[in-house]
Amino acid sequence: MTELLFRVAREFDVVKIRRTKEAEEHIVLCQKEGKCLGCEEPLVEGERVTRGACGTCYNGMMHLISIGKVQEKDLMRDGKLLQPSKGGRKPANDFLKSLAEAAK
Ligand SMILES: [Zn+2]
Repeated sequence: MTELLFRVAREFDVVKIRRTKEAEEHIVLCQKEGKCLGCEEPLVEGERVTRGACGTCYNGMMHLISIGKVQEKDLMRDGKLLQPSKGGRKPANDFLKSLAEAAK
C-alpha cells in the first residue's frame, strides 16, 4: 500500500453581512457615475476594475485585509467592495466540464 500526501483545498467559510442603506446608495451612485467604490475617482476605461474598485484601491484593500488591518466583511458592509463573482475560469474542455459538474 502506498501512502500519498496531498493538500486539499480548504472550504470557504460563508459569511453573511447586511449592507447599510448608505452603502447601497454609495454603490448605486458610484456605478451610475462610473466611479471607484473606494476612492470615488472616475474609473479609467480599459483599466481593470475588481469588485467595483480601481486597481489601486483593490490591491490596497487586499493588502490591508492580509495584514489584518481591515476585514473584508466590513469593507463589503460599507459598500467599498462588492462580493466576489462566482465565476472563475470556465472549464477548458469536456473532461474538465464533467468534473466541474460532478463537484456541484
Ligand atoms: Zn479607487
